[in-house]
Amino acid sequence: MELQFLGTGAGMPSKARNTSAIMLKLLDEIGEMWLFDCGEATQHQILHTSLKPRRVTKIFITHLHGDHIFGLPGFLSSRSFQGGEEGVTLYGPKGLATWVEQTMRLTSTHITYPMTFVEVAPGVIYEDDHFIVEADELAHVVTSYGYRVTQKALPGELDINKARALGVPNGPMLGQLKRGEDVHIDGRVITSAAVVGEPKKGFVVTLLGDTRYCEAAVNLSRGADIVVHEATFDQTMQSLAAQFGHSTVSDAARVAQEAGAQHLIISHISSRFTEHDEAALLAEGASVFPAIAMAHDFKQFTLYNNELKCV
Ligand SMILES: [Zn+2]
Ligand SMILES: [Zn+2]
Repeated sequence: MELQFLGTGAGMPSKARNTSAIMLKLLDEIGEMWLFDCGEATQHQILHTSLKPRRVTKIFITHLHGDHIFGLPGFLSSRSFQGGEEGVTLYGPKGLATWVEQTMRLTSTHITYPMTFVEVAPGVIYEDDHFIVEADELAHVVTSYGYRVTQKALPGELDINKARALGVPNGPMLGQLKRGEDVHIDGRVITSAAVVGEPKKGFVVTLLGDTRYCEAAVNLSRGADIVVHEATFDQTMQSLAAQFGHSTVSDAARVAQEAGAQHLIISHISSRFTEHDEAALLAEGASVFPAIAMAHDFKQFTLYNNELKCV
Protein backbone atom coordinates (compact mmCIF):
# COMPACT_ATOMS: atom_id res chain seq x y z
CA MET A 1 0.00 0.00 0.00
CA GLU A 2 1.19 3.44 -0.86
CA LEU A 3 -0.57 6.79 -0.64
CA GLN A 4 0.45 9.22 -3.35
CA PHE A 5 -0.73 12.81 -3.11
CA LEU A 6 -1.62 14.43 -6.44
CA GLY A 7 -3.15 17.63 -5.07
CA THR A 8 -2.69 19.05 -1.60
CA GLY A 9 -3.98 22.64 -1.85
CA ALA A 10 -7.22 24.20 -0.63
CA GLY A 11 -9.93 25.88 -2.69
CA MET A 12 -7.92 26.67 -5.81
CA PRO A 13 -4.65 25.54 -7.32
CA SER A 14 -1.36 27.32 -6.70
CA LYS A 15 2.00 26.69 -8.35
CA ALA A 16 3.05 24.60 -5.39
CA ARG A 17 -0.17 22.70 -4.70
CA ASN A 18 -2.89 21.49 -7.04
CA THR A 19 -6.45 20.89 -5.82
CA SER A 20 -7.37 17.71 -3.94
CA ALA A 21 -6.60 14.20 -5.15
CA ILE A 22 -4.98 11.25 -3.44
CA MET A 23 -4.17 7.88 -4.98
CA LEU A 24 -4.37 4.85 -2.68
CA LYS A 25 -2.17 2.33 -4.46
CA LEU A 26 -3.17 -1.26 -3.70
CA LEU A 27 -1.10 -2.80 -6.47
CA ASP A 28 0.66 -5.43 -4.32
CA GLU A 29 -2.59 -6.26 -2.53
CA ILE A 30 -5.17 -6.44 -5.36
CA GLY A 31 -3.56 -4.90 -8.47
CA GLU A 32 -5.83 -1.85 -8.26
CA MET A 33 -5.67 1.81 -7.36
CA TRP A 34 -8.39 3.82 -5.64
CA LEU A 35 -8.61 7.57 -6.18
CA PHE A 36 -9.89 9.86 -3.42
CA ASP A 37 -11.21 13.13 -4.88
CA CYS A 38 -10.30 14.41 -8.31
CA GLY A 39 -9.61 18.15 -8.34
CA GLU A 40 -9.11 20.01 -11.60
CA ALA A 41 -6.05 18.86 -13.59
CA THR A 42 -5.61 15.65 -11.62
CA GLN A 43 -4.95 13.93 -14.95
CA HIS A 44 -2.16 16.45 -15.64
CA GLN A 45 -0.63 15.63 -12.27
CA ILE A 46 -0.82 11.93 -13.12
CA LEU A 47 1.27 12.61 -16.25
CA HIS A 48 4.18 13.45 -13.94
CA THR A 49 3.95 10.05 -12.23
CA SER A 50 4.05 6.39 -13.20
CA LEU A 51 0.37 5.95 -12.29
CA LYS A 52 -1.82 4.22 -14.88
CA PRO A 53 -5.42 5.56 -14.97
CA ARG A 54 -6.73 2.20 -16.25
CA ARG A 55 -5.67 0.68 -12.93
CA VAL A 56 -8.07 3.00 -11.09
CA THR A 57 -11.17 0.93 -10.36
CA LYS A 58 -12.81 3.01 -7.65
CA ILE A 59 -13.14 6.74 -7.12
CA PHE A 60 -14.31 8.04 -3.76
CA ILE A 61 -15.53 11.63 -3.78
CA THR A 62 -15.73 13.34 -0.39
CA HIS A 63 -17.97 16.23 -1.45
CA LEU A 64 -19.13 18.17 -4.47
CA HIS A 65 -17.03 21.33 -4.12
CA GLY A 66 -15.18 22.12 -7.33
CA ASP A 67 -11.70 21.77 -5.83
CA HIS A 68 -12.55 18.10 -5.25
CA ILE A 69 -14.37 17.13 -8.45
CA PHE A 70 -13.57 19.46 -11.38
CA GLY A 71 -10.98 16.98 -12.65
CA LEU A 72 -13.41 14.07 -12.92
CA PRO A 73 -14.79 14.50 -16.48
CA GLY A 74 -11.30 14.87 -17.95
CA PHE A 75 -9.89 11.99 -15.98
CA LEU A 76 -12.76 9.65 -16.90
CA SER A 77 -12.63 10.68 -20.55
CA SER A 78 -8.86 10.21 -20.90
CA ARG A 79 -9.07 6.85 -19.15
CA SER A 80 -11.33 5.82 -22.00
CA PHE A 81 -8.80 7.00 -24.64
CA GLN A 82 -6.02 5.18 -22.80
CA GLY A 83 -7.72 1.84 -23.27
CA GLY A 84 -9.38 1.52 -19.90
CA GLU A 85 -11.83 -1.35 -20.28
CA GLU A 86 -12.43 -2.37 -16.70
CA GLY A 87 -15.36 -0.56 -15.11
CA VAL A 88 -15.07 2.22 -12.56
CA THR A 89 -17.28 2.62 -9.52
CA LEU A 90 -17.74 6.14 -8.23
CA TYR A 91 -18.77 6.68 -4.62
CA GLY A 92 -19.95 10.07 -3.43
CA PRO A 93 -22.74 12.27 -2.14
CA LYS A 94 -26.13 12.65 -3.79
CA GLY A 95 -25.78 14.63 -7.00
CA LEU A 96 -22.47 13.16 -8.15
CA ALA A 97 -24.05 10.84 -10.73
CA THR A 98 -26.25 13.63 -12.14
CA TRP A 99 -23.31 16.02 -12.49
CA VAL A 100 -21.00 13.51 -14.18
CA GLU A 101 -23.68 12.08 -16.49
CA GLN A 102 -24.96 15.53 -17.54
CA THR A 103 -21.42 16.70 -18.24
CA MET A 104 -20.68 13.64 -20.35
CA ARG A 105 -23.95 14.02 -22.26
CA LEU A 106 -23.65 17.77 -22.91
CA THR A 107 -20.06 17.40 -24.12
CA SER A 108 -20.81 14.27 -26.20
CA THR A 109 -18.17 12.38 -24.28
CA HIS A 110 -18.37 8.66 -24.89
CA ILE A 111 -16.95 6.44 -22.18
CA THR A 112 -15.96 2.97 -23.37
CA TYR A 113 -16.14 1.23 -20.00
CA PRO A 114 -19.01 0.76 -17.54
CA MET A 115 -19.41 3.43 -14.87
CA THR A 116 -21.34 2.66 -11.71
CA PHE A 117 -22.41 5.23 -9.16
CA VAL A 118 -22.95 4.54 -5.49
CA GLU A 119 -24.64 7.24 -3.43
CA VAL A 120 -22.86 7.19 -0.11
CA ALA A 121 -24.62 7.01 3.25
CA PRO A 122 -23.02 6.51 6.67
CA GLY A 123 -21.93 2.90 7.30
CA VAL A 124 -20.23 0.19 5.27
CA ILE A 125 -20.23 1.22 1.61
CA TYR A 126 -18.01 -1.52 0.19
CA GLU A 127 -16.74 -4.93 1.27
CA ASP A 128 -14.90 -7.79 -0.41
CA ASP A 129 -12.53 -10.56 0.72
CA HIS A 130 -9.70 -8.08 1.27
CA PHE A 131 -11.15 -4.70 2.25
CA ILE A 132 -13.98 -2.93 4.03
CA VAL A 133 -14.72 0.73 3.32
CA GLU A 134 -16.84 2.69 5.76
CA ALA A 135 -18.13 6.23 5.40
CA ASP A 136 -19.51 8.86 7.72
CA GLU A 137 -20.72 12.40 7.32
CA LEU A 138 -18.36 15.14 8.49
CA ALA A 139 -19.11 18.79 9.33
CA HIS A 140 -18.50 21.07 6.34
CA VAL A 141 -20.71 23.70 4.64
CA VAL A 142 -22.07 21.05 2.27
CA THR A 143 -22.46 17.28 2.74
CA SER A 144 -18.91 15.96 3.08
CA TYR A 145 -17.82 12.39 3.76
CA GLY A 146 -14.82 10.73 5.32
CA TYR A 147 -13.75 7.22 4.33
CA ARG A 148 -12.11 4.51 6.42
CA VAL A 149 -10.38 1.74 4.46
CA THR A 150 -9.69 -1.40 6.50
CA GLN A 151 -7.60 -4.22 5.10
CA LYS A 152 -8.84 -7.55 6.44
CA ALA A 153 -6.40 -9.74 8.39
CA LEU A 154 -3.93 -11.59 6.19
CA PRO A 155 -3.49 -15.36 6.62
CA GLY A 156 -0.49 -16.38 8.72
CA GLU A 157 2.71 -17.65 7.12
CA LEU A 158 3.18 -21.39 6.58
CA ASP A 159 6.30 -22.63 8.38
CA ILE A 160 7.59 -24.97 5.69
CA ASN A 161 10.31 -26.47 7.89
CA LYS A 162 7.82 -27.35 10.60
CA ALA A 163 5.50 -28.90 8.02
CA ARG A 164 8.34 -31.00 6.59
CA ALA A 165 9.40 -32.11 10.07
CA LEU A 166 5.84 -33.35 10.64
CA GLY A 167 6.09 -35.36 7.41
CA VAL A 168 3.90 -33.20 5.17
CA PRO A 169 4.93 -33.87 1.58
CA ASN A 170 5.29 -31.17 -1.09
CA GLY A 171 2.00 -30.77 -2.95
CA PRO A 172 -1.65 -29.86 -2.33
CA MET A 173 -1.57 -30.62 1.41
CA LEU A 174 0.60 -27.54 1.97
CA GLY A 175 -2.10 -25.43 0.32
CA GLN A 176 -4.82 -27.02 2.47
CA LEU A 177 -2.86 -26.27 5.64
CA LYS A 178 -2.29 -22.70 4.49
CA ARG A 179 -6.03 -22.26 3.93
CA GLY A 180 -6.69 -23.32 7.54
CA GLU A 181 -7.65 -26.93 6.82
CA ASP A 182 -6.27 -29.88 8.81
CA VAL A 183 -4.77 -32.84 6.89
CA HIS A 184 -4.40 -36.56 7.58
CA ILE A 185 -1.12 -38.38 7.03
CA ASP A 186 -0.82 -42.10 7.86
CA GLY A 187 -3.60 -41.89 10.44
CA ARG A 188 -2.15 -38.78 12.07
CA VAL A 189 -3.87 -35.38 12.03
CA ILE A 190 -1.69 -32.38 11.26
CA THR A 191 -3.56 -29.25 12.24
CA SER A 192 -3.23 -26.04 10.32
CA ALA A 193 -2.59 -24.21 13.58
CA ALA A 194 0.52 -26.36 14.15
CA VAL A 195 2.27 -25.11 11.03
CA VAL A 196 0.66 -21.76 10.17
CA GLY A 197 1.37 -18.60 12.18
CA GLU A 198 -1.12 -16.10 13.54
CA PRO A 199 -3.08 -14.02 11.00
CA LYS A 200 -1.45 -10.66 10.37
CA LYS A 201 -3.44 -7.52 11.08
CA GLY A 202 -4.21 -5.46 8.00
CA PHE A 203 -3.79 -1.70 7.77
CA VAL A 204 -6.38 1.01 8.34
CA VAL A 205 -6.21 4.24 6.36
CA THR A 206 -8.71 7.05 6.98
CA LEU A 207 -9.15 9.77 4.35
CA LEU A 208 -11.32 12.66 5.39
CA GLY A 209 -13.01 15.29 3.28
CA ASP A 210 -13.26 18.97 4.17
CA THR A 211 -14.49 19.39 7.73
CA ARG A 212 -14.25 21.30 10.93
CA TYR A 213 -13.37 19.28 14.04
CA CYS A 214 -16.13 16.67 14.52
CA GLU A 215 -16.88 13.42 16.33
CA ALA A 216 -17.39 11.55 13.07
CA ALA A 217 -13.80 12.33 12.06
CA VAL A 218 -12.57 10.92 15.38
CA ASN A 219 -14.69 7.77 15.00
CA LEU A 220 -13.52 7.13 11.45
CA SER A 221 -9.90 7.62 12.57
CA ARG A 222 -10.12 5.33 15.62
CA GLY A 223 -6.87 3.34 15.85
CA ALA A 224 -6.05 4.02 12.19
CA ASP A 225 -2.50 3.56 10.95
CA ILE A 226 -2.73 6.67 8.82
CA VAL A 227 -5.22 9.54 9.01
CA VAL A 228 -5.30 12.09 6.21
CA HIS A 229 -6.97 15.23 7.55
CA GLU A 230 -7.43 18.65 6.03
CA ALA A 231 -5.64 21.57 7.68
CA THR A 232 -6.67 24.64 5.74
CA PHE A 233 -5.75 27.12 8.48
CA ASP A 234 -3.47 27.55 11.48
CA GLN A 235 -4.50 28.21 15.07
CA THR A 236 -4.53 32.01 14.60
CA MET A 237 -7.41 31.58 12.13
CA GLN A 238 -9.75 29.48 14.22
CA SER A 239 -12.73 31.75 13.55
CA LEU A 240 -12.20 31.57 9.77
CA ALA A 241 -12.01 27.78 10.04
CA ALA A 242 -15.29 27.68 11.95
CA GLN A 243 -16.97 30.04 9.51
CA PHE A 244 -16.02 28.06 6.39
CA GLY A 245 -16.32 24.57 7.85
CA HIS A 246 -12.60 23.86 7.79
CA SER A 247 -9.95 22.78 10.27
CA THR A 248 -6.79 24.26 11.68
CA VAL A 249 -3.64 22.16 12.04
CA SER A 250 -4.47 21.92 15.76
CA ASP A 251 -7.97 20.59 14.98
CA ALA A 252 -6.50 17.88 12.74
CA ALA A 253 -3.94 16.94 15.40
CA ARG A 254 -6.69 16.79 18.03
CA VAL A 255 -8.67 14.32 15.89
CA ALA A 256 -5.64 12.04 15.47
CA GLN A 257 -4.79 12.26 19.15
CA GLU A 258 -8.34 11.54 20.39
CA ALA A 259 -8.70 8.69 17.92
CA GLY A 260 -5.48 6.99 19.05
CA ALA A 261 -4.23 6.99 15.47
CA GLN A 262 -0.64 6.04 14.62
CA HIS A 263 0.17 8.70 12.03
CA LEU A 264 -1.39 11.92 10.77
CA ILE A 265 -0.80 13.48 7.35
CA ILE A 266 -2.17 16.98 6.91
CA SER A 267 -3.27 18.15 3.47
CA HIS A 268 -5.65 20.73 1.89
CA ILE A 269 -3.20 23.48 2.88
CA SER A 270 -4.17 27.08 2.09
CA SER A 271 -2.03 28.86 -0.50
CA ARG A 272 -1.45 31.67 2.03
CA PHE A 273 1.14 29.34 3.57
CA THR A 274 4.47 28.98 1.77
CA GLU A 275 7.26 26.50 2.35
CA HIS A 276 8.67 28.95 4.92
CA ASP A 277 5.59 28.42 7.10
CA GLU A 278 5.71 24.62 7.07
CA ALA A 279 7.93 24.15 10.10
CA ALA A 280 5.62 26.35 12.19
CA LEU A 281 2.51 24.50 10.98
CA LEU A 282 4.05 21.12 11.80
CA ALA A 283 5.19 22.38 15.20
CA GLU A 284 1.63 23.53 15.94
CA GLY A 285 0.31 20.07 15.18
CA ALA A 286 3.16 18.20 16.87
CA SER A 287 2.44 19.91 20.20
CA VAL A 288 -0.85 17.93 20.20
CA PHE A 289 0.05 14.88 18.10
CA PRO A 290 3.78 14.31 17.45
CA ALA A 291 3.48 11.75 14.62
CA ILE A 292 2.47 14.40 12.08
CA ALA A 293 3.63 14.83 8.48
CA MET A 294 2.64 17.24 5.75
CA ALA A 295 1.53 16.19 2.29
CA HIS A 296 3.02 17.76 -0.83
CA ASP A 297 2.01 17.16 -4.42
CA PHE A 298 3.59 13.90 -5.68
CA LYS A 299 4.82 12.90 -2.24
CA GLN A 300 4.25 9.20 -1.58
CA PHE A 301 3.87 7.56 1.83
CA THR A 302 3.93 3.95 2.91
CA LEU A 303 4.00 1.97 6.14
CA TYR A 304 7.11 0.00 6.96
CA ASN A 305 7.17 -1.85 10.31
CA ASN A 306 4.42 0.49 11.52
CA GLU A 307 6.53 3.53 10.66
CA LEU A 308 5.37 6.08 8.12
CA LYS A 309 7.94 6.35 5.35
CA CYS A 310 8.07 8.95 2.66
CA VAL A 311 9.17 7.18 -0.52
ZN1 LIG B 1 -11.76 21.80 -0.46
ZN1 LIG C 1 -15.13 21.97 0.51
